[in-house]
Amino acid sequence: MKIAVLPGDGIGPEIINQAVKVLKAINLEDCVEYAPIGGAGFDEFNDPLPKSTLDLAISADAILLGAVGDWKYDKLPRDMRPERGLLRIRKSLNLFANLRPAIMFSELIHASTLKSEFVSDLDIMIIRELTGDIYFGEPRGISKNKKNEREGLNTMRYSEPEIIRIAHVAFKTALKRSKKLCSVDKANVLEATELWREVVIQIGKEYPEVELSHMYVDNAAMQLVKNPKQFDVIVTGNIFGDILSDQASMLTGSIGMLPSASLDAKNKGMYEPSHGSAPDIAGQDKANPLATILSLAMMFKYTFNDQNKFNLIENAVKKTLNDGFRTEDIFSKGTNLVGCEEMGNKVIERLEV
Ligand code: NAD
Repeated sequence: MKIAVLPGDGIGPEIINQAVKVLKAINLEDCVEYAPIGGAGFDEFNDPLPKSTLDLAISADAILLGAVGDWKYDKLPRDMRPERGLLRIRKSLNLFANLRPAIMFSELIHASTLKSEFVSDLDIMIIRELTGDIYFGEPRGISKNKKNEREGLNTMRYSEPEIIRIAHVAFKTALKRSKKLCSVDKANVLEATELWREVVIQIGKEYPEVELSHMYVDNAAMQLVKNPKQFDVIVTGNIFGDILSDQASMLTGSIGMLPSASLDAKNKGMYEPSHGSAPDIAGQDKANPLATILSLAMMFKYTFNDQNKFNLIENAVKKTLNDGFRTEDIFSKGTNLVGCEEMGNKVIERLEV
């Protein structure tokens, strides 16, 4: 087993340290190999995705990533910016299926800004297509138009095979859960998503047990806060999934709690928290490491097919919350405020190895 560990920028190294401590506690530290990505890659190799990092990621069985990005890189040419490293690694490894569970831990019910009755027992799986759409579509860029005005251009594009493969992942996931799948698009105005809807319906015929519904993205955003429990599995494109999954994270209290898995066709995966590098709190020992630790748990479930280790880690996180330990983002009166490092230690103390 070889796990490529890419801490990245901002709070990345702090939260990754906690997940690596978990790997040490279960005697898997020898599987870990580190490499820089994002701003860290640029600083060391003048490239947000250095070749050595990509080579390591290709040769590894799974990848654990912290986060990339920092305001100090905002002036770099677009191709050199940290976020470009992330997009490139997703594309190079063909990690097209991004699984983002939004689960309400009962201990955190009061951290949600929504009333408890709307979010108690919430368990949604958002499946976001990750290597297509407007984030990758060509042509793109900023140039002068015929009137000599500056113009920004991006292209929303989806090919039929791209939609087919993500649809299969979504239907298969729905089969393992409550057999309900909602496909989110904007088929009324965007042709790229008109095709999306057509193809999802077509693939749905191969999964007659799954109840398929469709929703426009604006309505989905509204329904997610109005009545989130109506959803079980949501499948959507890259940009809509990016936004809706951040929104869903807040239903559960904090973006610091939300793990994610990005998988290729053979379930090789990159595992990372859904949040960014949080430069505002970087280096202050304030970050919540639980999304990263839960991402590590997902690695065992989806890439290594090891449900026991998934349960082991998830249970340790639940116990930590149950025992009242909270980082600042999920803190409420009557609980114990701890830093990132201490939160990691509390989880490790509760691992029943
Ligand atoms: P962000 O997710 O980094 O932060 C948004 C807010 O959530 C901030 O207030 C931050 O302090 C808080 N937050 C995020 N993670 C937290 C955690 N684990 N614990 C406690 N609080 C947490 O998003 P942003 O501010 O829009 O972006 C900051 C940088 O991150 C940018 O450079 C952006 O491009 C990058 N980014 C990277 C990724 C990624 O690496 N996958 C994703 C999104 C944004």
